[in-house]
Amino acid sequence: MRSLTFKWIVTLLLTSLVGVVLVGAFAYRATATEYDRLRVEQSQAVFVREVTAYYEEHGSWAGLEEWLAAQHPTNYGGDYGGNTGAPNSGGGGGGYRSDPPQLFALVDANGVCVVGHGPFNNGQQVPAQDLSDGVPIVVDGEKVGTALLAQPPPQLDPREQRYLDSTNKALLVGAIGASALALLIGVLLSRTFLRPLSELTRAITAMQQGDLNQQVQVRTKDELGALAQTFNQMSAQIHRANQLRKQMTADIAHDLRTPLMVISGYLEALRDGTLQPTQARFDAMNKEAVLLNRLIEDLRTLSLADAGELKLIYQSIPPRELLEQVRQSFEPLANDQRLELSVAVEDNLPALTIDRERMAQVLGNLVTNALRYTPVGGTITLRASSHPQGVQLAVSDTGSGIAEEHIANIFERFYRTESSRYQGDGDTESGLGLAIAKSIVEAHHGTIGVESKLGVGSTFRIILPRADK
Ligand code: ADP
Repeated sequence: MRSLTFKWIVTLLLTSLVGVVLVGAFAYRATATEYDRLRVEQSQAVFVREVTAYYEEHGSWAGLEEWLAAQHPTNYGGDYGGNTGAPNSGGGGGGYRSDPPQLFALVDANGVCVVGHGPFNNGQQVPAQDLSDGVPIVVDGEKVGTALLAQPPPQLDPREQRYLDSTNKALLVGAIGASALALLIGVLLSRTFLRPLSELTRAITAMQQGDLNQQVQVRTKDELGALAQTFNQMSAQIHRANQLRKQMTADIAHDLRTPLMVISGYLEALRDGTLQPTQARFDAMNKEAVLLNRLIEDLRTLSLADAGELKLIYQSIPPRELLEQVRQSFEPLANDQRLELSVAVEDNLPALTIDRERMAQVLGNLVTNALRYTPVGGTITLRASSHPQGVQLAVSDTGSGIAEEHIANIFERFYRTESSRYQGDGDTESGLGLAIAKSIVEAHHGTIGVESKLGVGSTFRIILPRADK
């Protein structure tokens, strides 16, 4: 965890540093460039104003250079010593400097240089191409000459340098401040962002130690929130599966023990002579043994299905034939209970490709339940109809129906509703019938579901996909 916090803070810090350095570098360059431009413009304004005034007064450029030299000995006479301090003395807060450096050459209306400077010499004919970059000098609406920038602005003087230096210092202080802020934000935010991770770690550790029911708080709607939510679902599922497993072990033990106790009770009594061996007593013992056998067979089927090793022997069979086979097996029982057991098959249904015995077992389990929960005079119908995905087989009854709160659970192993558990004939119910039906249907890539209404009846539907799917 600490290392993730560390990485997170370093990332924030680096990002802010890179940002600050980039902005600083651009700001520095922009300041320096703007500063130069300002100086050139200022210098140019002074030069243009002076030479325009000169021309207005004299009507020509003759004598201009001497006049300029007299006006600005710093620039033209080279006599810096005599002017130290003078350029600034008259400023009085106006410009940053009253005598900006001379950077310009002047060309007359014919393109001949009259005030030479830099690459331009007096008397030289200046190419038209260079003239187009210059500033026209206009007197009485007529262009009388052109001022040309002849050299880049000179080195900064100490005052200007100081100004740029203080700008740089401000940028540096800004950079340090931004980094410190990034560090602070990083530390504060890392707590918030990484808290869900530490909570998850704690919950997973608790699960490792056997406490499976762990729920962490879902704080955000982002990826970490989704992770927390998925973890919660996973933990709930594992917890539930674990409880089911415990419950199932207890149920298996209980269901195996009951018939065994009955059998051993009879055997002891017969051995001690307290009971006489009669046909009925052997039948009773045999019934318990058959029940044990069935229970063990059911468990074996389920464990094979769980392991994906339920071997299905596929064969093609018309739906009517399958349903008739089931009806015939259960007809005597239905007659005994005075229930009507009928078959209804839609015309032109395709043949089913299924393991005939296994599917008959599924339908048998459904019909057994229907017989068990349907009162005298009721009807049980086996139906086959077409379905968008293939063929639908259904077993409907007019029995007790299943309460809504049980519907979600009845396909679970050993799940029995309280009402069924305590019915007189309870010891023949294992609570495995529907779980086995579901396993076999799913091994056929099909689905099984139920619709039921208390007091009205239930319909179990199996959808078997087309064989070519
Ligand atoms: P059991 O061996 O107890 O019948 P099942 O898995 O076959 O176990 O069924 C689970 C529970 O579903 C039953 O205990 C019963 O309450 C309910 N059930 C199943 N089929 C029906 C039905 N046709 N009508 C009413 N309840 C049913």
